[in-house]
Amino acid sequence: MALKLFNTLTRSVQDFVPLDPAGKKVGLYCCGPTVYDFGHIGNFRTFVFADLVRRYLEFRGYQVRHVMNVTDVEDKIIRRVRETGKPLREYTGGFEAEFWKDHASLNCRPPHERPHATDFIAEILQLIEALMARGIAYRTDDGSVWFSIEKYRALGHTYGQLVNLNFDAMRAGERVANDEYEKESLADFALWKARVPDDGAVFWPSPWGEGRPGWHIECSAMSMKLLGASFDLHLGGEDLAFPHHEDEIAQSEGACCQAPGQRFVKYWMHGAHLLVEGTKMSKKLGNFFTLRDLLAKGFNGREIRYLLLTAYYRETFNFTLAGLEGARAALARLDECLAKLRDTARDATAAPEPTLTAKFAEAMDNDLNVSAAWAVVFDWVRDTNRALAAHQLSAVQAAAALAAWQSVDAVFGLGAKAEAEAPPEILALLEARQAARKAKDFKQADAVRNEMKAKGWLIEDTASGPKLKQA
Ligand code: AMP
Ligand code: ZN
Repeated sequence: MALKLFNTLTRSVQDFVPLDPAGKKVGLYCCGPTVYDFGHIGNFRTFVFADLVRRYLEFRGYQVRHVMNVTDVEDKIIRRVRETGKPLREYTGGFEAEFWKDHASLNCRPPHERPHATDFIAEILQLIEALMARGIAYRTDDGSVWFSIEKYRALGHTYGQLVNLNFDAMRAGERVANDEYEKESLADFALWKARVPDDGAVFWPSPWGEGRPGWHIECSAMSMKLLGASFDLHLGGEDLAFPHHEDEIAQSEGACCQAPGQRFVKYWMHGAHLLVEGTKMSKKLGNFFTLRDLLAKGFNGREIRYLLLTAYYRETFNFTLAGLEGARAALARLDECLAKLRDTARDATAAPEPTLTAKFAEAMDNDLNVSAAWAVVFDWVRDTNRALAAHQLSAVQAAAALAAWQSVDAVFGLGAKAEAEAPPEILALLEARQAARKAKDFKQADAVRNEMKAKGWLIEDTASGPKLKQA
């Protein structure tokens, strides 16, 4: 069966066919964090969703290039920089470092590229120049540059590909300076924002005067530079579909970067939002959780990841602390079964038993239907427990069952229990060691291993990857 994904662009479930003529390479871009504060649990629902998409494509044998940007200049950041008086990079750098720690605590695979908007100013200017050359962008007297929706449409492009828009609501000559705006206030949006006193030291020179980029153009420039003008998958939370992603399409296709007949992005995927106890997270309501808030309550990244992965990505997910308790209980059931399998398998090795992985893939091929996939896993746990209790599994059969679980877990990414208890610092070292080994720098890999040992953590290399153990 083919992998089927819901494409926001066509509002339908489609067979996934990559642009690569060999059908092997896949380019995936996910809008990353805006590093003006700690990430909240809703943000991480979206990043775990992106990690699931990447891991499942890898499970299906695709060679994925995963890009996730870091938005390090936009309206909210500028406001915070002004309030704190810190230089831009110093302010965003602190939150970015914390973001990657949280990302690792949830066992999300590090993206292959993590571009920063402020490193792509030249590409952004080039893109705006291309839009100017086509008459789609225009400068106002203050030195700002705007995207003209009217001119774009007049050239035969469609604005309103990801959402339906009512152009009667649009008034000629109206502009919106904020990066975030509603469908109802449809207006020309900013590509380049002229420097104002409140921007402090945050500005760059441009052919139109000093200023800074708008948020939308940042993602167009970074994604096309790193993945090519046409790529396979673009992801984000549902709130980004309009205006952010719509504007990304308008800028990238308006600048005519693509080969004739090609689109900017083939498949757009949007993750639904996370609610807490049925309502939108807000600091005022006291239901606002960062990842570290939950870790401080005694939960670990593995439990949080599991809970986030129990919900189909296109459905709103209601997060509760009781749900996390449930996640802990479900994982205990799984861990108990795996421990018994390990006892039975001892030193035996075997290829994965194919039924579990086949049923799992059948469920996941259907637009990443994790609910059906977890049902497959827990049916397997029940049947395995029965077989173990009846002493029906040989060591080799148990090893084959464990290997099957490892294949499934390459996608779910829960890892072993001990790993979940390792602090982020140790997980970062483990990652550094794997990177050194991959680069065949065995001296460095050994040095990291020794550093981990000195901190009380041992690595055991197994057929299914490295395992952490407390010394
Ligand atoms: P931001 O750091 O605000 O740019 O958001 C980063 C990502 O988190 C974006 O893809 C958003 O769509 C997503 N996001 C924001 N709030 C939520 C939420 N409550 N549930 C799920 N995703 C969210
Ligand atoms: Zn973006």
